[in-house]
Amino acid sequence: MNTAVLLDIDGTMTPPRQPIQEEMARLLGRLSVPFHVAAGSHLPLLQQQFFHPLYDFGFRGRFDAFVSNGAVHYRADYREGPSLELISEFDIRDYLGETDYAFLIQVLSETLDLPEFQTHLPLKVAGERIVYRGSMVNCSPIGRALQELAEAQRNRAMFVEFDRANQYRERVMAHLKRRLARLMEERDLTITLGGQTSFDIGVHGQDKTKAVTALIASGAQRVVFFGDALFDGGNDAAIRVMAESWPADSAVKVEAIQVESWLDTMARLRELGFAA
Ligand SMILES: [Mg+2]
Repeated sequence: MNTAVLLDIDGTMTPPRQPIQEEMARLLGRLSVPFHVAAGSHLPLLQQQFFHPLYDFGFRGRFDAFVSNGAVHYRADYREGPSLELISEFDIRDYLGETDYAFLIQVLSETLDLPEFQTHLPLKVAGERIVYRGSMVNCSPIGRALQELAEAQRNRAMFVEFDRANQYRERVMAHLKRRLARLMEERDLTITLGGQTSFDIGVHGQDKTKAVTALIASGAQRVVFFGDALFDGGNDAAIRVMAESWPADSAVKVEAIQVESWLDTMARLRELGFAA
């Protein structure tokens, strides 16, 4: 059977928001089946976190990369340098048109400014809170500090705690789903948790399942996905839902595996016989 492994990047092949480690990069070079990646972030972030270090650690193979939550498809060929070729992309701004896109951004910004959604000191808001990422809009209530200084890292950690204790992002998302009900219905928008401090507004079907569909179209008969966020609202959830609803009698198989960390991913790859 023609099997392909598909992996999330952040938290699945790397420590959260940290670059890929040498051990994982070397394991990827030794897999017994082809691997591909499906990541939530956009390319500029992933270059530092994954694409450059993978090459620097000596990887010289080929793979497909579905970034920006699956909506932008690159083909990576590292045999003669770290080359990335754009295959296809989806743009939420073009898709929605000026009026609906402006409305979306306005509702997001009004929502973050509501008294009930103010985060209190010592949590700080620094950098942009609403970021256009091609296929989606990423919203980070504490902002994305441009530099990952120790202070910004502490602030992130504090937010993660605060969010866990107060279901802060869940409440903001519930509010948005009410305010954006018309747009979500008419334009098929989705609102999902992204990473540990943000959430994403995207378009149904323009998500990581596009990676699975593309791999099957190019001949894979079994796709095994590994992700750290398969839970409801997580940015790998679309693939879990796809795997769960996949017809049992289909000749093609789709599997989704929840992992706890990049070390867990390495262990699972070995357990399943994809790596020695
Ligand atoms: Mg992840």
